[in-house]
Amino acid sequence: MSVDAIIIGTGVIGTATAFEMAKAGWKTLSLDRNTQVGHGSTAGSCAIIRMHYSTRDGTAFAWEGYHYWRDWAEHLGLPPGADLAQFKECGCLVMKTEANGHLEKHLKYSRDLDIPVEEWSAEEITARLPIYSLESFAPPKRQDQPGFGEPNGRHLREAVFWPKAGYVTDPALSSQNLADAARQHGAEFRLGVEVTEILREGGRVTGVRLADGEEIHAAVVVNVAGPGSAKINEMAGVTEEMTIATRPLRQEVVHVPAPEGFDFEALGTIVSDSDIACYCRPEHGNHILIGSEDPECDPHIWVESDTEYDRDFTDQWTTQAMRYAQRVPSLGIPSRSRGVVDLYDASTDWIPIYDRSSLTGYYMACGTSGNQYKNAPIAGKLMAELIAYCESGADHDTDPLQFRLPYIDTVIDAGFFSRKRPINAESSFSVLG
Ligand SMILES: Cc1cc2nc3c(=O)[nH]c(=O)nc-3n(C[C@H](O)[C@H](O)[C@H](O)COP(=O)(O)OP(=O)(O)OC[C@H]3O[C@@H](n4cnc5c(N)ncnc54)[C@H](O)[C@@H]3O)c2cc1C
Repeated sequence: MSVDAIIIGTGVIGTATAFEMAKAGWKTLSLDRNTQVGHGSTAGSCAIIRMHYSTRDGTAFAWEGYHYWRDWAEHLGLPPGADLAQFKECGCLVMKTEANGHLEKHLKYSRDLDIPVEEWSAEEITARLPIYSLESFAPPKRQDQPGFGEPNGRHLREAVFWPKAGYVTDPALSSQNLADAARQHGAEFRLGVEVTEILREGGRVTGVRLADGEEIHAAVVVNVAGPGSAKINEMAGVTEEMTIATRPLRQEVVHVPAPEGFDFEALGTIVSDSDIACYCRPEHGNHILIGSEDPECDPHIWVESDTEYDRDFTDQWTTQAMRYAQRVPSLGIPSRSRGVVDLYDASTDWIPIYDRSSLTGYYMACGTSGNQYKNAPIAGKLMAELIAYCESGADHDTDPLQFRLPYIDTVIDAGFFSRKRPINAESSFSVLG
């Protein structure tokens, strides 16, 4: 069998890439070992669409990304009546803390890019979130450290609110929407097939071999394997020159009921709170979803295999719930743990890789580090343009693609996402990107 391009992975970034490449005229074939589209780490995503990042290019990319979720139906062009993922624009509140430099950089980048933003006082925070206590607990601690859960005598005084932020209710469905949209342009999908070898000849990729021995040939292969990306890059033999590595990192997300009497689902917002190293968002059924902002005190649980890892909740779940209860004293913590255990595909500097490789025709969109769901639609466009640029003979390594973000009409240097970049010192080195 032969196609123009093979895309490994049908997560949100893989399907967005398939959609954009198919629209540009490529005969694409997407492969996934799962039997349903979008059921890799995308399905476990908190799917928060925020626009504050610690780098200017990261901020511009995320602000561009927001617009596709806002205009989802129009972006996809599926027939009326299609079951579409929903974007809930509830806003995102970020506490000003020492740890985030009181958000000076984030505010500057947002203002430079005309992103709507509001500065809130303590009174405004508790008016929106009356269940919140603004006592400070920094620095975040593990449960077994002295002082866990004890306030430090100071108080949070200010926050920044990004009113356009929100979240997508069903991230797996959003991948399926993209796949359906891609199929309208001729893209094909094969599920339940595992890629076990990247075929090469004379310094160029020639296709893939599947677990049952079948070979599929294509002049272009794109690695969008999420937490499986490092293995695929090893199969392709392209890791040696990369300064940025990718690695699966285990994460737990907590779901708890909102305190009685407060409709967090309708009135809550996303909150990023580095004082307690938690972020949260409203979740269906008046629940609160709580994720970790990866404080230094917490161990990182790197895993060897992206398929065989412990899917049970551990102390991380309880620690996260208890840290959030420091902020919301009326929070009840149920005895039965509910939520998500999944993997980030973490990169060395927590910024993704959208790039070519040392193997001609082999590309990668990986290292999404727990923070690229929001960017999938624009990452798909970037990959399609980058691949066309390189396949037309341009050398993206020495003369990087200058990529125009169409909604916000800003040009970014796509070399920002290079596999060979110096580690970006501006990064938060956490899920915050
Ligand atoms: C718990 C959690 C919370 C997150 N929260 C947010 C958030 O709030 N906001 C945000 O922007 N981002 C968030 N992210 C990150 C975001 O979800 C990911 O960046 C994004 O979903 C990655 O999509 P993907 O298409 O690259 O990978 P995936 O969805 O992981 O898809 C990769 C696919 O490749 C397939 N595959 C791998 N190896 C092979 C192989 N050898 N053969 C065949 N198929 C293979 C897998 O089966 C999988 O389906 C979160 C991630 C997690 C885990």
